[in-house]
Amino acid sequence: MTKEQSEPRWPGLMIVLSAPSGAGKGAIRRRLQERLPHLRYAVSVTTRPMRPGEIDGVNYHFVTPEEFHARVEAGYFVEWAKVYGNYYGTPREPMETWLREGHDVICEKDVQGALKLMDIYPEAVYIFTMPPSLEELRRRIERRGTESPEARAQRLASADCEMACVDRYDYVVVNDDLERAVDDIIAIIRAEKLRSCRQRHLVDQVRSGGRIG
Ligand code: 5GP
Repeated sequence: MTKEQSEPRWPGLMIVLSAPSGAGKGAIRRRLQERLPHLRYAVSVTTRPMRPGEIDGVNYHFVTPEEFHARVEAGYFVEWAKVYGNYYGTPREPMETWLREGHDVICEKDVQGALKLMDIYPEAVYIFTMPPSLEELRRRIERRGTESPEARAQRLASADCEMACVDRYDYVVVNDDLERAVDDIIAIIRAEKLRSCRQRHLVDQVRSGGRIG
């Protein structure tokens, strides 16, 4: 029996990456974009204060809580959530336009955001990135040094709950070595794009006497 596949709505592939805070999701995404320059990143909107080195419009669109709530009212977000006391939301646009145009799009979501997206975009691929150990996660959060001790403890406690949801994801990638984790994700993207439901037009082309390539 073949795996049930959701019919892709759009030619572009949507990739949703989740990971406990500090598991290296940002570094993975940046490296992926270096290696796959055509991959688009759907930037989220947040009310969290900007961290040193972050750029508005690149890492997030940073807005005030008032602006965030106005956008919620206006139906601007596909999903939004309160994570560690701050609001985060996924704008519907330009993500859906990119997918419609055939671009592959990656976005980063916490587990609650990803679970909501699974209902809205069942055809997307959901990848959970894990640290090699909780001890390593603690070290990475401490090294980042951007959170208070209370916020760090909260992020570590959440990591355990988040990992309990891993069965809902399509794939799990351990981020022990950055380059290997990126290799794994590139392999997943490649395999997803070769799924029969994404290749039907090629099959039709060959069956009607055409040639591919
Ligand atoms: P950070 O503040 O460390 O960048 O992110 C905190 C958490 O919020 C991470 O788990 C991140 O994946 C998640 N996050 C980022 N953008 C969004 C979003 O648009 N929606 C949801 N639900 N979570 C998000």
